[in-house]
Amino acid sequence: MKNTILIFGDQLTLHHSALDAGVCGRDVILLIEARDSARAHKIKRVFQFSAMREFAHELSEGGWDVDYHRMADAPNFRDSLLDHLTQHRPHALCVMEPNNWSQLQILNDVATAGRIPVETFPTCQFVTSREAFASFAKGKKRLVMEAHYRQTRQRLGILMEDDGQPVGGLWNYDADNRKSVRDWKKDGAPTPPRPVTLERIHSPIVEDVIQEVSRWFPEDAGRAEDCWLPTTRAGALATLQQFVEQRLPLFGDYQDLMLQDSPTMFHSMIGGSLNLGLLLPMECVESAIQAFREGKAPLAAVEGFTRQIIGWREFVNGVYWVKMPDYISSNALGASRPLPAFFYTGDTAMHCLSSVIGEVRDTAFNHHIQRLMILGNFLLLAGISPKAAHDWFLEMYIDAHEWVMAANVLGMALHADGGFMATKPYAASAAYISKMSNYCSGCRFDPNKKIGPDACPFNLLYWDFYDRHADRFASNPRTSMMVSSWRKRAAPERQAIRHEAAQFLENL
Ligand SMILES: Cc1cc2nc3c(=O)[nH]c(=O)nc-3n(C[C@H](O)[C@H](O)[C@H](O)COP(=O)(O)OP(=O)(O)OC[C@H]3O[C@@H](n4cnc5c(N)ncnc54)[C@H](O)[C@@H]3O)c2cc1C
Ligand code: SF4
Repeated sequence: MKNTILIFGDQLTLHHSALDAGVCGRDVILLIEARDSARAHKIKRVFQFSAMREFAHELSEGGWDVDYHRMADAPNFRDSLLDHLTQHRPHALCVMEPNNWSQLQILNDVATAGRIPVETFPTCQFVTSREAFASFAKGKKRLVMEAHYRQTRQRLGILMEDDGQPVGGLWNYDADNRKSVRDWKKDGAPTPPRPVTLERIHSPIVEDVIQEVSRWFPEDAGRAEDCWLPTTRAGALATLQQFVEQRLPLFGDYQDLMLQDSPTMFHSMIGGSLNLGLLLPMECVESAIQAFREGKAPLAAVEGFTRQIIGWREFVNGVYWVKMPDYISSNALGASRPLPAFFYTGDTAMHCLSSVIGEVRDTAFNHHIQRLMILGNFLLLAGISPKAAHDWFLEMYIDAHEWVMAANVLGMALHADGGFMATKPYAASAAYISKMSNYCSGCRFDPNKKIGPDACPFNLLYWDFYDRHADRFASNPRTSMMVSSWRKRAAPERQAIRHEAAQFLENL
């Protein structure tokens, strides 16, 4: 009996488990480019829809019967799916575990409305199953990424010696991976090679999608024609290969460094491809480990990269599925200020923010430390509503999806989950930004000033944040020092900081 294999737009892999279980020539594959999703940067839409069309083309070439709903014919996902079921009358709807809660809800809804059984196959896009993560998390009030990362490495034998010890004797080389601007200059200021993928080579499929996205989503951020990530599996593999050969050796050293006009630094730029299924996690890790074994990349860089993929990526996915659906409305710090308008324009005198926002406006990308320590830090200190921040990140980034956004934005950046996945807030004053970037030299504010018209707003907001949340953070051993240092300041100084911070926030 004929089944329908529904492939969500972020599951574009031939290792798709429902596809694996299907029968070519009998089953129908369904892909839907729905127009009903929330606002999204045009580069993100072009990347996603082009990758879907390229994948559908590959499946058709392979002999599969593909029912593809283009954006022009698919005002919303649910109705397109129901139309397909009415027309094709399959025996069952076969899916790989959806990556996002909203997809799961649509499936449940359609299964009831269309009276069709849904057969769900396990995901191949993560190395830890939701059940295994739930048992790791069971009974714990707080989760620690490092504990899960070590378990995963042991379970899969990644960078492990035969005697059960980590290769090189250490689990974590973070201490070697924090070079500052001063170190970078001392090292001769190495600059990353420009990724080939930024050359914007567009296939006819991508050219069509650019036209359609520009037509259907004129109000969305960015320019459709600026899509820069390759939209095929072959292109994604080339990006990975280029990273391993050219940027991985220095990835660890400069992982936390932020430089004006160098949006990629030595990062991999594979997140978008991984999150659509064009790459799978183990092949990325294996190619980095291969470079280490061949003496082409140091252990600190390779372990650092492995930790991002097998550690952080798996961890934030696990947290999402353990905590949904309530996680998305977390707001432990009671933050409620609206998102400042300059998050769309970059029009602010704060040079670090205007640079980073300018980059995301133009490319739909920033690297991790820009997201966490410039944008996230500002949103946290300024008390911006977590929901508003979450929606902005989801809209603007080429690699953004609900499952990855929740824990990164609400948990890691905004501490909105009360510390469930991060023991202390990632709050920093200008001292950190000036040490780890070269933004301050072009700024009208002074990172060394704490009060007065030239004082860096990050300094005012940092102390004001600890003032506002002093009771909560005084009892946390990792933040109590900051609170006591604030409380030891002279009363007039504290009053001046409070006053100037309030004025700054009023004018946002
Ligand atoms: C506020 C905030 C928002 C973020 N939004 C996203 C997002 O929308 N989508 C997304 O995939 N990642 C997100 N991240 C995590 C991380 O910043 C990006 O994965 C990374 O910057 C992507 O660039 P890259 O591919 O060059 O990654 P690299 O720095 O080269 O790292 C390699 C890979 O490791 C994985 N990874 C590393 N850190 C994380 C993490 N914290 N969570 C999940 N995966 C991780 C990614 O797959 C990434 O491609 C966010 C982090 C923060 C703090
Ligand atoms: S002085 Fe402050 S606002 Fe200006 S770039 Fe430095 S940290 Fe950012």
